[in-house]
Amino acid sequence: MIEEDRIETVSIVIPVFNEEESLPALIERTTAACERLGREYEIVLVDDGSRDSSAAIIAAAAEAPESRVLAVLLNRNYGQHSAIMAGFRKARGDLVVTLDADLQNPPEEIPRLVATAEEGADVVGTIRVNRQDSLFRKSASKLINLMIKKTTGKSMGDYGCMLRAYRRPVIEAMLSCHERSTFIPILANMFAHRVTDIPVEHNEREFGASKYDFLRLINLMYDLVTCLTTTPLRILSIFGSVVAFGGFLIALFLIVMRLIFGSQWGVEGVFMLFALLFMFIGAQFVGMGLLGEYIGRIYTDVRARPRYFIRKTVGARRFSKKSRKGKA
Ligand code: UDP
Ligand code: MG
Repeated sequence: MIEEDRIETVSIVIPVFNEEESLPALIERTTAACERLGREYEIVLVDDGSRDSSAAIIAAAAEAPESRVLAVLLNRNYGQHSAIMAGFRKARGDLVVTLDADLQNPPEEIPRLVATAEEGADVVGTIRVNRQDSLFRKSASKLINLMIKKTTGKSMGDYGCMLRAYRRPVIEAMLSCHERSTFIPILANMFAHRVTDIPVEHNEREFGASKYDFLRLINLMYDLVTCLTTTPLRILSIFGSVVAFGGFLIALFLIVMRLIFGSQWGVEGVFMLFALLFMFIGAQFVGMGLLGEYIGRIYTDVRARPRYFIRKTVGARRFSKKSRKGKA
């Protein structure tokens, strides 16, 4: 094993948005799991502009004596993936593990992730066995996975599961990306040489509800697709030409039929024409929407506003000097 491949320090990055009920258990269980690592660790809790007492709980945890918690408080809500990016910026570990604050991903899996990474993986992905989410969420994910597999030929176990581990070089690569609509697991896979997927447990959400409503979910889905590929744009034009060609053939067919059977025939086909028309108009709108999604993202990227703004960080640097390997 190359010296550089050794994992001496581990950072846990957790985005938090209105999770006051689960925070105490989260911090306790994560700390317990990290203690078992036998390595230096830090827990970076990023408050994504919560409106409940989450920020206060996180700050208090960071201020406690002997605390391994670093609190990063964002000034407003920027979304899960931006919050994780803010956490990445502050994390100093050789390996960074991300996880959800709602305890749907058991923190007890952290040692297994670290062990898998130590065997040489740059990115450790996870696949949720017996996923505990609503039928709507599960079928939405299935559809997206299928779409991505079909368009890119790449398949990736389980995009939605945020319990993942990334090595320092992958984190650095992600931090140097300036795009704003990112879907972190996909971005990471782009820079990873060796990816290993392991199965993990998944629990039902104990407190509160999912922070993703229908519209945010759609936005997330587009983030995922546009982050991954521009193939849909190409498919769009192929689909457009096929439709146009089909339309041309149908028109030809109608003319021929009209010539053979007289005008009566053509009139009776009117409704059929309407149906076709609506179908194509619909397809056009889908295509335009998709184009709009790309353009919208280009617009935000061109504007290049910071993707998050840190209000305050609480907690001291926790790694001892010798294990920091002189990293910035
Ligand atoms: N989250 C966040 N900002 C947001 C939405 C969610 O930091 O705007 C966090 C949330 O606190 C949780 C994680 O992202 O730790 C996943 O959110 P959630 O459990 O609601 O998503 P789901 O499990 O339904 O995919
Ligand atoms: Mg959840």
